[in-house]
Amino acid sequence: MSDVQAQSDMAFACGACDTPLFQSKDIITTILSGAMGKSFLVRNPTNIGFSSGEKQIRLTTGMHVTRDIECLTCRKPLGWYYVKAFETDQKFKEGAYLIEKALLVPVKAQTQPSVFSFLWKQ
Ligand SMILES: [Zn+2]
Repeated sequence: MSDVQAQSDMAFACGACDTPLFQSKDIITTILSGAMGKSFLVRNPTNIGFSSGEKQIRLTTGMHVTRDIECLTCRKPLGWYYVKAFETDQKFKEGAYLIEKALLVPVKAQTQPSVFSFLWKQ
């Protein structure tokens, strides 16, 4: 169980500028593949902005409406945000962010939960 505890203290930052983006507890799944390989699907990341409007794209898992996302500090593209998934078994992605693992660096987690993540658990 100590491994799980250590995992839950992990956080991830932008690999280009070290801006904190999310904590391991915000990760929904790590099995998705982005453009550059393994990716995290994340709820409630911080310091991330949209760099495009909504666009409809076809992925191996069906049609999705997405927006490109970027680091708010250095404007580096990080992945995309799922606005809408058309396939029923992909609906869990809606409102979540796909962030390329290759673009991140692991950092020590901050101890205070964000207000947003607190609200999410209500
Ligand atoms: Zn950055």
